Amino acid sequence: MDISGAAALVTGGASGLGLATARRLAEAGARVAIVDLPSSAGATVAEELGGSFAAADVTDPDQVAAAVAQAAASGPLRVVVNCAGIAPPAKVLDREGAPTPLADFERIIRINLVGTYNVIAQASAVMARTEPAADGDRGVIVSTASVAAFDGQIGQPAYSASKGGVHAMTLPIARELARYGIRVLTIAPGIMETPMLKGLPQAAQDSLGEQVPYPQRLGRPDEYARLVLAMVDNGYLNGETIRLDGAIRMAPK
Ligand code: NAD
Repeated sequence: MDISGAAALVTGGASGLGLATARRLAEAGARVAIVDLPSSAGATVAEELGGSFAAADVTDPDQVAAAVAQAAASGPLRVVVNCAGIAPPAKVLDREGAPTPLADFERIIRINLVGTYNVIAQASAVMARTEPAADGDRGVIVSTASVAAFDGQIGQPAYSASKGGVHAMTLPIARELARYGIRVLTIAPGIMETPMLKGLPQAAQDSLGEQVPYPQRLGRPDEYARLVLAMVDNGYLNGETIRLDGAIRMAPK
């Protein structure tokens, strides 16, 4: 799919995987719309890429609808990439053996899973009404799960559940949106070198890197971005989650 002159919306585009993706999409000629929290560096990133910034919380339908409309004003909306997310650890039981607050579990599900769904719903409503390209393609939606969807660690019940949900909804949404010529895909990254991960102590980062069979290092945000571009480019990929993880299978902790 030729995305030159098309609009591409990237949630979480101010940082990490989203930022790397926004850069690659801009390089490919797309008009990039960064959707991120008001507190993020979204405005600076958008200026650097010659794109636009919409301050929005992915869990808010009105804010996301406005962000999608703003993106679609710059060209036909052909690419949507869901990178907004959070990953705070939260065990079932605290040190005293008491249940951790239910609100912590709900917050992770709300941002990672409900937020991703909300963006897909609001964006696909606009994409479905957009003129198709010559081959009938209207566009591609790429979401971000995690290897934690499949081999979650201790402390990741909410995160794993949220990412498992992103993986699980990929196929039913791809099936539903097939009639509009919209493809729906998910990437399940392993351990990527982003601000989210750099929040961990260096020893933990090194240990995680050593657990990767090959190449024995953390993944680079640009490797994620290049997979998004490959997914956009390859018209037969649909309804699938692809792991991008150097063959890591995470240990219990
Ligand atoms: P990051 O912290 O660098 O970027 C996440 C971005 O999401 C930030 O700019 C943040 O402001 C934004 N965001 C958070 N909550 C939001 C909300 N409610 N509304 C709008 N924007 C919001 O993290 P990253 O490592 O680039 O992660 C991107 C995605 O990849 C996340 O979904 C994460 O769970 C997933 N992931 C990351 C890794 C990794 O190792 N870094 C591995 C697997 C999956």
